[in-house]
Amino acid sequence: MSTLFENTKTAFAYKSDKDLKKAKFLFNTMSYPLFVPIGTRITPFIMKTGLPIHGIIRDTIFRQFVGGETLPETATICNLLGSYGVQIILDYGVEGKQDEADYEKAKLVFKDVIEYASTQPNIPFISIKITGIARFNLLQKLNDSPRIRSGIHDHEEEMAEWERVKARLFEICTLAAEKNIGVLIDAEESWIQDPVDRLVIEMMETFNKEKAIVYNTIQLYRHDRLNFLKMFHRIARQRHFILGIKLVRGAYMETERERAANNGYPSPIQPDKNSTDRDFDEAIGYCISNIEEISCIVATHNEESNKLAYDLLKEKGLAMNHPHVHFSQLYGMSDHITFNLAKEGCNVSKYLPFGPLKDVIPYLMRRAQENSSISGQTNKELALIKAELKRRKN
Ligand SMILES: Cc1cc2nc3c(=O)[nH]c(=O)nc-3n(C[C@H](O)[C@H](O)[C@H](O)COP(=O)(O)OP(=O)(O)OC[C@H]3O[C@@H](n4cnc5c(N)ncnc54)[C@H](O)[C@@H]3O)c2cc1C
Repeated sequence: MSTLFENTKTAFAYKSDKDLKKAKFLFNTMSYPLFVPIGTRITPFIMKTGLPIHGIIRDTIFRQFVGGETLPETATICNLLGSYGVQIILDYGVEGKQDEADYEKAKLVFKDVIEYASTQPNIPFISIKITGIARFNLLQKLNDSPRIRSGIHDHEEEMAEWERVKARLFEICTLAAEKNIGVLIDAEESWIQDPVDRLVIEMMETFNKEKAIVYNTIQLYRHDRLNFLKMFHRIARQRHFILGIKLVRGAYMETERERAANNGYPSPIQPDKNSTDRDFDEAIGYCISNIEEISCIVATHNEESNKLAYDLLKEKGLAMNHPHVHFSQLYGMSDHITFNLAKEGCNVSKYLPFGPLKDVIPYLMRRAQENSSISGQTNKELALIKAELKRRKN
């Protein structure tokens, strides 16, 4: 591990012994080989049966990875992290809803989140999943059918539905620009990404003239995304807006590969982890080399990638808190990176979701999978927590 991230005292200063022991118990449990694969399959069903599982989830995995069920409940964590120089990306964890009333409701919550963020010293961004304000199947249809997209069609109802999605996002971004809060649009499955990219370009063209307000997410586990980043940059140059980019590796690898295999098309995912790492790090280099035109968020728990961005800032003589380079990790993971970067004066944040327990279950399932014994992230987290508990004992 780079010495930059070694200091566990800094990493966990905000956690009591009791909190650390709870985290140790959770990561230990998730490291049992069959726990996560079975747990992620049966939990959504058990939730529906009315069995008293809610309390257990709330006090374990929810507590570790989520800020609360409502916006006011997140305040304690936001304030606590702020006192260590750590910023927050607030994420209303709604996704995969099915009707217009839900989308309108989500829009209002996003606007409340922006209003709240604008009153706080350490919440520069909010994050949005387009599936929180648009129907998944509509996005898929738009993705699959250029004919519908181009407007030469007989699908008036769906076009009207799409116009409403655009209007929702426009309303959210308008308020965000007025309140000077960044809006990060998450990337989801590749088979709905094309209309999302188009929509975000439109928003950037309107709102990113002076500074980056709207950010798109690029998943470098896709083999085509490094080129996409460069193409996106050319469009930004031509149309005179600042490109806002969140760089991630990507969270849907298994489902992407499975769907491609089942439907007989080439997988959009890189052939191996090294290829993903190579493109991710090249994307960091590309963004920082074009720092006047691109504002980037290095969203990763990978120590080498974080160190690379940190070193590039140093090498190029840029301010460690340059407004166009921001680091971010998910709440509940990699505190050793977040808090040590904050100590070095970098712009660094925790991505903090909140929402009713039933709505954040898909998010929690992704976190469980990412932290299962197979991925290896658990062992890393466990080792750090154990090292800190040992240090505190001595
Ligand atoms: C602030 C923040 C915001 C995020 N927003 C999004 C988002 O909008 N959309 C989204 O999809 N994800 C998002 N993520 C999650 C992210 O995509 C990763 O799943 C997660 O962070 C793990 O990758 P890593 O870079 O942290 O670390 P690492 O542990 O170095 O990388 C693990 C990742 O590498 C890739 N990988 C692993 N094995 C292979 C393989 N065999 N072949 C090819 N690639 C492989 C996968 O993407 C895997 O998740 C976000 C993460 C953060 C921190």
